[in-house]
Amino acid sequence: MTKPAEAHYGIDIGGSKMELVAYGDAALLQERFRKRVATPGHSFEAFLDAVCGLVQDADAALGLQGSVGLGAPGVTDPRTGRQLSSNVPALNGQALAPALQARLGRPVAIGNDCQCFALSEAHGGAAAAYPSMFGAIIGTGAGGGFCQQGQLLRGRNGLAGEWGHSALPALLQQKYQLPLWSCACGLTGCLERYVSGTGYAALYRHFAGLGAAEGLDVPAIEALAEAAEPLALNVREMHLDLLAYGLAQLVLIEDPHVIVLGGGLSKLQRLYAQLPEAMSRHLFASVQVPEVLPPRFGDAAGTRGAALLGMQRTHSA
Ligand SMILES: [Zn+2]
Repeated sequence: MTKPAEAHYGIDIGGSKMELVAYGDAALLQERFRKRVATPGHSFEAFLDAVCGLVQDADAALGLQGSVGLGAPGVTDPRTGRQLSSNVPALNGQALAPALQARLGRPVAIGNDCQCFALSEAHGGAAAAYPSMFGAIIGTGAGGGFCQQGQLLRGRNGLAGEWGHSALPALLQQKYQLPLWSCACGLTGCLERYVSGTGYAALYRHFAGLGAAEGLDVPAIEALAEAAEPLALNVREMHLDLLAYGLAQLVLIEDPHVIVLGGGLSKLQRLYAQLPEAMSRHLFASVQVPEVLPPRFGDAAGTRGAALLGMQRTHSA
């Protein structure tokens, strides 16, 4: 007897494009359909039409109804189901999942890009062999998601894993004479402003005395450090220490078996060797520091993690 056909749709919502990938197996390794369209940014109705259009195209191409998961920017308020702080203006304040469920006639699960990344690496990804993991995205910002036995921890506010918005400690702020930068979240001195890729470049700009429109990107700073330019070397050490502090706090709070890096800074190979030792300096002696690993799926995590959310939601519905 052949197994009934299955398909799991993951839709990655970006600020300008949205993409659906249909996977044909529970391991989410076989891609059966893929389509990308522009994200309607300013009309919720147009946004719903676009998502439903993608799902209907996939249904028609495969001859079945797949499960649906969305990776959307921002967070979902668990009390109201409404989207908050999204970079797609049409979604803010809207109860997206109920609206899509009503139109599509099937359960729809939603998570943010960090949660999708963590789930994707926990399932068949870099963290597949570990009971618990933290997926840390370090790129434009610093976010993440925590998975235990392949299940995402969401928490009361749906923001478990948002380590980038804890404050820089006075100890390190004084040690490096760091400026206190305000964060888009409304707080001041959030770690994200210093440890993200954007933060790394901002630190260099600050200590080089450059204006906001000047400065270097991360690859350029890394190249200068490789050439032993003193300021780049200093900033690289400082950034490593701040990043290691942030990840060490995760060990104290969640104690994951492994940390998988995502985002732009996950391409810096030196971090995988340097971070465990740098983290141990912020932890007491008996702590076994988790391994820090590069991602397996990387950029594919957006659709793959979304598909996992949809698959888990369908199985628990
Ligand atoms: Zn913040």
